[in-house]
Amino acid sequence: MEDKFKLLEECTGVSTDTRKIEKDNLFIALKGDNFDGNKYALKAIEQGAKYAVVDDVNLKDHQNLVYVEDALVFLQQLANYHRKKFDIPVIGITGTNGKTTTKELTAAVLQQKYNIHFTQGNLNNHIGVPLTLLQLNKEHDIAIIEMGASKIGDIKELTDIAAPTHGIITNIGYAHIEGFGSPENILITKTELYRAIEEVEGHLFYNGNDEVLEKQLPQACSTSTYGVNGDYNVQGSQVELTPLLSFKWSNKEYSSPTVSTQIIGKYNFYNMLAAICIGQYFEVNQEDINNALEAYKPNNNRSQLETTDYNTVILDAYNANPTSVKSALENFSEITKENKMFVLGDMLELGENTLHFHTEIIELSKALNLQGMFVGKIFSSLKEKHDILAFEDTQAAKDFISIATPEDNLILLKGSRGIGLEKLMEVI
Ligand code: ATP
Ligand code: MG
Repeated sequence: MEDKFKLLEECTGVSTDTRKIEKDNLFIALKGDNFDGNKYALKAIEQGAKYAVVDDVNLKDHQNLVYVEDALVFLQQLANYHRKKFDIPVIGITGTNGKTTTKELTAAVLQQKYNIHFTQGNLNNHIGVPLTLLQLNKEHDIAIIEMGASKIGDIKELTDIAAPTHGIITNIGYAHIEGFGSPENILITKTELYRAIEEVEGHLFYNGNDEVLEKQLPQACSTSTYGVNGDYNVQGSQVELTPLLSFKWSNKEYSSPTVSTQIIGKYNFYNMLAAICIGQYFEVNQEDINNALEAYKPNNNRSQLETTDYNTVILDAYNANPTSVKSALENFSEITKENKMFVLGDMLELGENTLHFHTEIIELSKALNLQGMFVGKIFSSLKEKHDILAFEDTQAAKDFISIATPEDNLILLKGSRGIGLEKLMEVI
């Protein structure tokens, strides 16, 4: 395999998509449920790729095509081979919620002092992680790699590829239960990151207020902590939601002024503290840390605050699972505003406990005394039993809202991506 990895040195980079090939790229033919990259290998060469790595035996003897047993495994091993050429800190970020936000905030903070390579968007799986690593070059000082998991073993697979030296688990909650089978398996999977960093006696950042994670910390690792009301390397305090989040932080020598962010959601407070903790460890100047956090603006329908002609909207229609919906509702109830309304979409991929989790969310909304509506087939199936306003799909909710025309409301939109709640923006 080693000799095949060397092909990379003759190439200008790796591509798995013929639409994005650049001259002298190394094309790797991946397979999905509905496509087979092998079919595009020759086209890739035509379009300028120097070599194409294929795993279809019928293509074995073509010029410029390099046959391997499994192109995906090749991609992953190549990424590890490339990663090992760089003796730099590689920070792995995993957790149930807040990975992307923590990654983006950490990148913003570290960019104040270093040249950072970090996962773009949400490319956090067995393909996205290797592709991200393959873009590492000698100009980079530090890499930040988001690692997602939907079943046991996923994080181990990614740490074997990325070989992280530093790591953070943002939190452990409930998501992708279908794939994991049980909450214990979520913990086992996420802490595979700790085990990987233990092997290299690396450094871990962790939320000192999270007792579950604290118990999992390996002895061999050095650590930095963040949290509230304790003896942490970074202490957070004075959290306010206007609904934009502001807070202060301190350490033994320093107390910050109020950091006024452009992000909503109390849950982001810990993501902010995580980024500060990592910035402090890498000796970014405190003022620069604060400036980076204040300047950061989220995108991708993630914790965005939008003003429409009629209302203010907390747009969080990117994903939803019991932990994140619960924190979104609690956060929403803490915002002081007279007219508030939530629109909650179904939480998908929850397996056999689906109804239980949805019922819990309905009960929480009632306990918090919040007004609003539910969208999706799962919530709708609980409509009569719990006497809630619910619509089968986004279109039906849209029709209702166009007639009800809410005005001067603060509206929370939160649901799984598949429900497409962002389409409601047209009528609110
Ligand atoms: P994905 O699994 O889709 O990659 P992620 O872990 O990258 O998700 P983000 O995209 O950063 O997470 O945030 C998604 C949503 O999760 C947020 O909009 C928010 O509702 C919720 N969330 C973010 N951070 C936290 C946190 N620390 N605790 C609980 N919920 C959070
Ligand atoms: Mg993410």
